[in-house]
Amino acid sequence: MKSLSKKVANAEASLTLALTAIAKKMKADGIDVVSLTAGEPDFPTPAHIKRAAVQAIEENFTKYTVNAGIIELRSAIADKLRRDNNISVDPSHILVSNGAKHSIFNALQAICNKGDEVIIPAPYWVSYPEAVKLVDAVPVILKTTERTDFKISASQLQRAITKKTKALILCSPSNPTGSVYTQSELEAIGEVVRKTGIYVIADEIYEKVIYDGARHFSLASIPTIKDLVITINGVSKAYSMTGWRIGYMAAAKPIVDAADKVQSQVTSAPCSISQRAAAAAIAGPEDEVHAMTAEFKKRRDYMLGELRAMEGVTCPTPQGAFYLFPNVSGLYGTSFNGKKIKSGDDVTQYLLEECNVVTVPGSGFGAKNNIRLSYACSMEELQKAADRMKKGFQQLK
Ligand code: PMP
Ligand code: GLU
Repeated sequence: MKSLSKKVANAEASLTLALTAIAKKMKADGIDVVSLTAGEPDFPTPAHIKRAAVQAIEENFTKYTVNAGIIELRSAIADKLRRDNNISVDPSHILVSNGAKHSIFNALQAICNKGDEVIIPAPYWVSYPEAVKLVDAVPVILKTTERTDFKISASQLQRAITKKTKALILCSPSNPTGSVYTQSELEAIGEVVRKTGIYVIADEIYEKVIYDGARHFSLASIPTIKDLVITINGVSKAYSMTGWRIGYMAAAKPIVDAADKVQSQVTSAPCSISQRAAAAAIAGPEDEVHAMTAEFKKRRDYMLGELRAMEGVTCPTPQGAFYLFPNVSGLYGTSFNGKKIKSGDDVTQYLLEECNVVTVPGSGFGAKNNIRLSYACSMEELQKAADRMKKGFQQLK
C-alpha cells in the first residue's frame, strides 16, 4: 500500500466527536454512563422549524439548490445580521454550508496559502488548529489564563502578528471557556486588525446562548474592518438543530466567491430541506431560544455549585455557551489503582473508567489542567454526574 497523506496524518481527529462516540458505544453496550461530551442541545428542534422541513418535502423541494444557498435563506440571514448584529450585508455576501464547521474550513481554504500563520487564542475549540493544518497553514497559539477570563488583549494580539500572519480565529462566546468579549475589548482588537490588515474569522455560533446580562458584540459591525471580518454562525446551537447541518459565513465578496468556488467542487449546496428549515428558524419567533437559554442557565448554576464544592476543583463562571471548564490541578498527586493523577487527561480517564462519566480533556483545547463538561443535557443527568464525580474524587488518595 502506498503511503497516505502526511498532512492528514499530521492532524488529529475531532476529540469531542471521538469522546461522544465512546459514550454512545458504552450506552449501547448497556453501561449506565453519563455523557458530558458533545456540545449538543438535548431539546427537540422547535415545531415550526420541523413543519417547514415537512412542507419542503411535501412540496418536492428535494433537489440541488444554488450552491451558495437558497435566496430565501440568505435573505433571512442578511436580515438577522442587520437586526441582531448591526452588520449590513447583501445576501450575495453570504455562503450557506453544511454546518459552521464547514463554513470555517471554507473560509480557511479561501484565504490561506501554504505557510501562512493563523493566530488562535487558547483555550480553543478543538477543530481550529486542525482545520488550519489541513489547509497547509500554521496555527499560532496565543496562551491566555483564568486571570484574564481566558481572553486575549489587543496588545497580546499585536505582539503575535508577524509578516506571515493571515488571520485570527476568535470565538465569543467561547467554546470551551464560555468567556464573552466585551464591546470595548473587541474594539481594541479591531483596531489592531485595521492597522495590520489581517483577517478575522469571528465564530459567533454561541451568540444566543449568553447569560448574566452579558452582551454579544460582532466584530464585523465595526465599519473600519468590515471587509476583514468573516462572520461565522449557524443554527446548530441556538435552535437545537445540530443534525440539520446548516452554517454560514458572511464576508467581503472576494472571500465569499472564493469559498463558494471551493464548496461548488466539494459538497455543492447543503441539504435543500434543511435550508428551508433554517430559514424558518432564523426568520421565526425566538421564544424557544430564550426558554432553552434560561434552562441552560439553571443547569450551569447547578453544576457550577456542585463543582465548586468538590475538593481540588476550581471553576470560573462562564458567561455564555454551555460548557464548564474547571481546573482540576488541585487533584494532582492523588492516585487510583496505583496510578498517579498528573493532568486533566488523567482526570478524564479516571472519570471515564471508574465513575462512568465522560468528559473531554482540556489538552484537546490547549489547556492541560482543565477538563470540559457540557451541560447541554438533562438536569437528572447532571445530578447523576455530580454525585459520581463527588464520590469519585473523594475516593482519590
Ligand atoms: N464553532 C464552535 C465554537 C463550535 O463549538 C461548533 C460545534 N459544533 C461549531 C463551530 C460547529 O457547529 P456546526 O458545524 O454544527 O454548525
Ligand atoms: N462543537 C461541539 C463540541 O465542541 C460539537 C462537536 C464538534 O463538532 O466538535 O462538543
